[in-house]
Amino acid sequence: VDEVVLAVDIGGTKMAVGLVDAHGAVRASDRTPTPVSADPEAVWSPLAALLAAARTGARESGWALRAVGVGCGGPMAGGGETVSPLNIAAWRGFPLRQRIEEATGVPVVVDNDAKALALGEGWVGAAAGCENFMAMVVSTGVGGGIVLDGRLLEGREGNAGHVGHLIVEPGGRLCACGARGCLEAEVSGTAIAAMTGAPAAAASEAVIERSGTLTGRAVADVANLLDLALVVIAGSVALGFGAPFFRAAQAEVVARARLAFAVGTRVRPAGLSASGPLVGAGALGWRTSGLPVLSVS
Ligand SMILES: [Zn+2]
Repeated sequence: VDEVVLAVDIGGTKMAVGLVDAHGAVRASDRTPTPVSADPEAVWSPLAALLAAARTGARESGWALRAVGVGCGGPMAGGGETVSPLNIAAWRGFPLRQRIEEATGVPVVVDNDAKALALGEGWVGAAAGCENFMAMVVSTGVGGGIVLDGRLLEGREGNAGHVGHLIVEPGGRLCACGARGCLEAEVSGTAIAAMTGAPAAAASEAVIERSGTLTGRAVADVANLLDLALVVIAGSVALGFGAPFFRAAQAEVVARARLAFAVGTRVRPAGLSASGPLVGAGALGWRTSGLPVLSVS
């Protein structure tokens, strides 16, 4: 019998589910817009419908469901027991893990979406085989997940890796977190739209270069702090900006990561493109099932 995990990606604009096999392939997927509502149940019910349809799909294909892995916007508490995604206002302390476990009857693990992405990139993406790297998402928001010595960093409540709140422009724009000049407040799609009056897809060369430079500034700090040699970046803003963004980021890293061990730190596009969030959530599910998705899992 083929085995799969149910992968769930929860974001501010859409919720997606997929069935991911033990090789990291997405066998089936579906999605729905995230409802804009103040009612937590109004956000939950379309997700519950997606989960039910995915379970039916797995059964009809003869695939056994091992676990559910969920990537969700941060922050969270209790290692994913409750979630309070900044971009889903209706969910504050929402018991997502328990709700999905009740709905599916298999073990469920919930983690930050950018940590999930890091796991996926280290499993079958651009960081496969690398034991020390960071994966970033530069999209509506900015997130990150860090793998050090072959392990995904967790922290007290599971929030390690929130690179979007490194301060790259002291005294800069006010961030949703309350601080000023956070990377997320300067280069996220939301920030760019607020600053320029147009979506990131319409950004000028100057905005693209500045976004790359500030992202590189954060990367350089992380490289200096953590002794890692590779940063892979996903997300619609970074990938949409493309080569000029990555060139500017790399140049800033070269200028600012000067310690001998940090020299040579590379900034690259993530490898899993649009399937990254589901592969990452799938990696969470497989890891909880005992499959070593990283070298030290
Ligand atoms: Zn912030």
